[in-house]
Amino acid sequence: MSDIAYLNSEFMKLSEAFVSVEDRGFQFGDGVYEVIRVYDKTPHLLREHVDRLKLSAASIQLDERLSYEEWERIVREGIDRSGYADAKIYIQLTRGVSPRDHRFPVSAPLTRVMTVREIDLEDPQLRESGVPTITVDDIRWNRCDIKSLNLLPNILSKQHATQAGAFEALFVRDGFVFEGSSSTIMVVRHGVLHTPPEGPRILSGITRDWVLNLARANEITVAEEPVSLEMLLGAQEVFLTGTTIEIMPVVTVDEHRIGDGKPGEIYHRLYQKFLASIS
Ligand code: PMP
Repeated sequence: MSDIAYLNSEFMKLSEAFVSVEDRGFQFGDGVYEVIRVYDKTPHLLREHVDRLKLSAASIQLDERLSYEEWERIVREGIDRSGYADAKIYIQLTRGVSPRDHRFPVSAPLTRVMTVREIDLEDPQLRESGVPTITVDDIRWNRCDIKSLNLLPNILSKQHATQAGAFEALFVRDGFVFEGSSSTIMVVRHGVLHTPPEGPRILSGITRDWVLNLARANEITVAEEPVSLEMLLGAQEVFLTGTTIEIMPVVTVDEHRIGDGKPGEIYHRLYQKFLASIS
């Protein structure tokens, strides 16, 4: 078993994969990406991830031509070559290699990278205890729905959280919380599951959709409406969702305790349903 890379039509060991310093992904962050979780050799929600990749690419005028079937073949071959049953796949598309110039290159083919890596699972203890979070100003641009390689505000915020001993930083603007630096936010109030609506201020999380569908199927009312800071702090439960963290219970926001300070009943119910849905 080994970490594998796919680079512009060729598979190789991850340690042997290199991209030019003139790649626009390196020069400008001019590209888009996806993260896919593999459970038992199966890429989870692959169709949804490839669809979102194509949407992100189209949003930045990146001419991504591979069909879903071609991506499926590449992804499955990568999983087979890695030998991992459980893994994490990154796909990155950039606007190719070209002398540095803000204008798009006229004829550079885009760079396609995929890596298949061993997954380092979150500490299971975190699901028992729940995690601390902090709030940060949302200084991002107004197209957070594009899964762009430009993640500077996200990584600075995550680092800020890490230095504060927190698991995640929650982006707040004008009194409303939008999402985490690498996760979707969900809040339970009076038994209703609230999450901010899709739009330019958040990434349309694929786990978000999956978890909302699980909630609806289990008679939990869902409200896709703006979530104020007040709602967040007054919630009975808060949790985060994302491809690699799945569902993660939050027990503090800026040291303010959420609910009774333990992962709540709706979290437990949904996480059980989530585990059942992937097995
Ligand atoms: N928002 C942001 C900013 C993210 O980076 C992520 C994870 N990539 C998510 C939400 C969750 O999205 P998904 O469920 O598709 O992983």
